[in-house]
Amino acid sequence: MKTESLEKRIKTVKESLPPNTLLVAAAKTRTSDEVKAAIASGITAIGYNYVQEAEVMRQALKEWETREAPHKVQWHLIGHLQRNKAKKAVELFDMIETIDSLRIAEAVNNRCASINKVMPVLIEVNSGRESNKTGVSHDEVIPLVGQVAELPNIKILGLMTMGPRFGNPEETRPYFRLTKKLFDQLATEKASRAEMRYLSMGMSNSYRQAIEEGANIVRIGTRLFADRNEN
Ligand SMILES: *Cc1c(COP(=O)(O)O)cnc(C)c1O
Repeated sequence: MKTESLEKRIKTVKESLPPNTLLVAAAKTRTSDEVKAAIASGITAIGYNYVQEAEVMRQALKEWETREAPHKVQWHLIGHLQRNKAKKAVELFDMIETIDSLRIAEAVNNRCASINKVMPVLIEVNSGRESNKTGVSHDEVIPLVGQVAELPNIKILGLMTMGPRFGNPEETRPYFRLTKKLFDQLATEKASRAEMRYLSMGMSNSYRQAIEEGANIVRIGTRLFADRNEN
C-alpha cells in the first residue's frame, strides 16, 4: 500500500519536471525499506545530509544494490561536510553538493588523491546571506570557484543553494534567481576547469519556482516520502 502511493508520488513529481532534470530524493530519517521502494519506483539519486546516516543506509542496501536494484543509484551529500568526515564522504558519495570553503575542498581533494578518485562537487551558495546557514556568500563564490577549480582531484560541476525557507515559495524565487545569475556568470569563464553543468535548487515546497529559475537538480524529501498531511 505504502509502496504504491510512494510510487505514485514519485511518478507525479517526475512528470512535473522538465526532461534532463535530476530528481534527488532527500532521504533523511527514512527507513531502508522506504529508500529501496523509492529506487524501485524510479529514483536514481539519493541525497543525505549526514555522512554517518548515509553510511548506515549504504551498508543496509549494499547487497540489494548490487543484486536486485533495477538501476544504478547515485549518492549525493546535500548537508554540510565536516573536515573530519571527508575520508568517509569521498568513499560513500558520487557527488558532494555542499563545498563552501577552500579548507573543506582541500580535505576532500587530499582524500580523493589517496584513492585515485576525482570527486564531482557543487559549490554551495548562501544565497540569502543567512548567518545560521552554511554555504559561501555570493561575493565570495567566484573567487572560491577559482581556487577550488585548481585542485586536481575535484571537479566543480555547478552550484547548489537552499535559499531562505518561506511559507510562500515565491519569496524564495529571488534567491534562486541570484544563484542562477552567478551560475551564468561562471559559465562564461571558459578557461576555468570548473564546469557549470548542474544547478541544484528547490525542495518540496519550492521546486517549481526553482525549475522556472533554471534548476536542473531538485532535492525533494517530504513530497515523495510522506503524505502531505503528514508534514
Ligand atoms: C531535507 C532537505 C531537502 C528536502 O526537503 P523537503 O522539504 O523534505 O523536500 C532538500 N535539501 C536539503 C539540503 C535538505 O536537507
